[in-house]
Amino acid sequence: MGSNFPSERLFNDAARADNKYMSRPARCFAPHQIILTKGSTNTPQRQQLAEAICRAYPKAEIQEQPNIHHNKVDLGVSNRLGLHYEGKRTLVLGEHLSSVRHSDEDGNTCPNYWHFSPYGFCPYGCDYCYLAGSRGVRFSPTVKVFMNLDEMLDRINTVARKRGRPMPFYLGKLQDGLALDRLTGYSRRMIRFFADHPYARMTVLTKSVDVENLLDLDHRKHAILSWTTNPPDVDRQFEPNTPSVGKRIQAMRQCAAAGYPVRAVVMPIIPLDNWRDVYEVFLRDLLMRVPLSRITLGGTCIYKPALQLVDLKLGRGNAISRDLQSPDIDGDRRARYAEGQRVDIYRHLIQTIRSIQPELQIGLCLEHTSVFEALGMTPAIGQCNCLL
Ligand code: SF4
Repeated sequence: MGSNFPSERLFNDAARADNKYMSRPARCFAPHQIILTKGSTNTPQRQQLAEAICRAYPKAEIQEQPNIHHNKVDLGVSNRLGLHYEGKRTLVLGEHLSSVRHSDEDGNTCPNYWHFSPYGFCPYGCDYCYLAGSRGVRFSPTVKVFMNLDEMLDRINTVARKRGRPMPFYLGKLQDGLALDRLTGYSRRMIRFFADHPYARMTVLTKSVDVENLLDLDHRKHAILSWTTNPPDVDRQFEPNTPSVGKRIQAMRQCAAAGYPVRAVVMPIIPLDNWRDVYEVFLRDLLMRVPLSRITLGGTCIYKPALQLVDLKLGRGNAISRDLQSPDIDGDRRARYAEGQRVDIYRHLIQTIRSIQPELQIGLCLEHTSVFEALGMTPAIGQCNCLL
């Protein structure tokens, strides 16, 4: 049954918990309901955080569903687009017991890597979102905060000590890495954990500009921060409800000034009619303003269910999907632009980057060996954003 605020019983231990963090509403996110699912409040620390998150959204309806798993919440909407939009307005607090995982993919040059999930999915509205069509999100498209961060860090510690040498843990595969950080303050705990760890390092991918939690921390360069960026034209047309690219660049500059290694991921590159000029102007601006340690380029690269959602949102023949080839059924089953078109685009962008920063590391995301070969970039295979 819904109520305007969690029951006293639910939060009566909260005052005893430490790790106090003053939650603030996340930018670009105003959920109309918050659902507290299984495991979300079963320790004093989780209760305290749940209460703080609920207080940040006093107008949201709070529902307690303590026997429901985070991915089994029924939003009562059956049509695909309606379910997607309702999910974006719903915040689920839960527990994710297998949130530290090793990826398991083949069919492209990307190496597999460790990743972790203190969040699930994302409040932003990118039309091209590949994640929206993934199996986990398609059936459970809510925005999620997982409350068992301590257990995740324990698991990361175990994995990293077993490896015994520096290794990355990626935050941004199944979520935006910082979009909800104002709400949770997780960055402050994570960055301190990784700073103190002899082997574990964190790589984060985000579009968020809320970096104030990060700037005063002694991170020891053990957290690498990367931003997905695209030219402002692409942002305006295809990235509704996201922080503007100009503000992302400002956030990147702030974090670089605070000593963090900062990277950019220019993806998905969308072949607008005037893409050469648009991307060239954008890259020049980005590279002149942000001291990047690596840049990764990638085209639209999308599974069929996510592509169906793109077409539902934008109509068929839109600028994202009109040039896409059929999914690569002998490879990783993603749809891409034709190889010749990709090589043409990469070549132009790489020449632009090289003309400004000849030594900057350049990676290609989710690409095939033949594309690296055509560009003379075979040694760069595996020089990915997900890795150190
Ligand atoms: S930021 Fe990433 S996960 Fe979030 S909507 Fe955009 S593409 Fe999807």
